[in-house]
Amino acid sequence: MAGSGNNAQGLLQSCVRKGKLRLHLLYDHFRQCGNTLSWTKAAWNRALLPKHSFFLVMAMQRKQATIDQLNIRGLYMVNRCILCKMDNECHKHLFFQCSYSSMVWRQILTWLNMHNRTVKLSKEIHWIAGRRACKHLKARWYTSCLGATVYCIWEERNTRIFSGQEHRFDYVVKRIQYLVKVRLLYVTHPSKEGEIVEALDGC
Ligand SMILES: [Zn+2]
Repeated sequence: MAGSGNNAQGLLQSCVRKGKLRLHLLYDHFRQCGNTLSWTKAAWNRALLPKHSFFLVMAMQRKQATIDQLNIRGLYMVNRCILCKMDNECHKHLFFQCSYSSMVWRQILTWLNMHNRTVKLSKEIHWIAGRRACKHLKARWYTSCLGATVYCIWEERNTRIFSGQEHRFDYVVKRIQYLVKVRLLYVTHPSKEGEIVEALDGC
């Protein structure tokens, strides 16, 4: 506690000029600290369904309870990715080292006409954390697709584990495209909310 108090005092002193606390210097300090979290701003934009924003923020923080994490916490399960059935399931594998999830994301990137991008979630996050990602329309919809993809891959994973149902990767791609298009319709035509909510029922 004493250390944090000294840090705070040092910070305040560094923002003093001619005996006066300069608030703009303090603001600049916190603005710079906040840059590392600018991806949260990108994730919480209107182009995403709220549940996709929430899930994308969780994915960015690696909060999904993947099998490797459950094993670490003492809940032992055989670790095998239910999507590709080839490798162990961990966050890095699921988003998007897995042959199944990487196919889904590559198809979405092709749909967005962004063929040459990486398929690593950490790289995607780094990209959307840029200022351009918050301001440019295409980047906002790209973030929308990323949120829907992370959500739908986790959903497919859970459906396979808990219901025993499996879908081909192109089914998941179509579902992501549908959700993103409906969201686009809602954001651009909010007066049609009733019809859109009806269309989204069950999604
Ligand atoms: Zn896999």
